[in-house]
Amino acid sequence: MTAKMTAKMAHKPGAGSDPKVVQSKARNASSAALACPCGRAEVYALCCGRFHAGAPAPDAESLMRSRYTAYVLGLEDYLRATWHASTRPAALNLDAQPVAKWLGLDVKSRQAADAEDTAASVEFVARYRVGGRAVRLHEVSRFVCEAGRWYYVDGVVD
Ligand SMILES: [Zn+2]
Repeated sequence: MTAKMTAKMAHKPGAGSDPKVVQSKARNASSAALACPCGRAEVYALCCGRFHAGAPAPDAESLMRSRYTAYVLGLEDYLRATWHASTRPAALNLDAQPVAKWLGLDVKSRQAADAEDTAASVEFVARYRVGGRAVRLHEVSRFVCEAGRWYYVDGVVD
């Protein structure tokens, strides 16, 4: 990670001023409270927070998890930036009522779709509550990698 990225992260709301400080807090407090929303056993600043701050996600699953966390945090700019231009919607309307409350993410499987690792798919279950109703979203998302960056293309929901 470059010093520039670290500096950018420091100004991200919720990322904490210093990743080391966040980490030591995590050891003292309930780790569930500070763990990244994506479900990995890591604090936000050292997990999806790095990608939200501009670092490229290293693989499709990391991008998928960082997009889930972006939904949790309402980061519409990040969701649009990581959505492939061919399928990106004009607006996401994340604040449309009733607002979804995201409850958890479970990555079921991931698959590289070609030998060059420029396309991949990730199967996951995301749970959320909206308007008093619990929803279980089971989706297989497709991703492509262009110029070192992964993008969400589309998904099949069952
Ligand atoms: Zn994460």
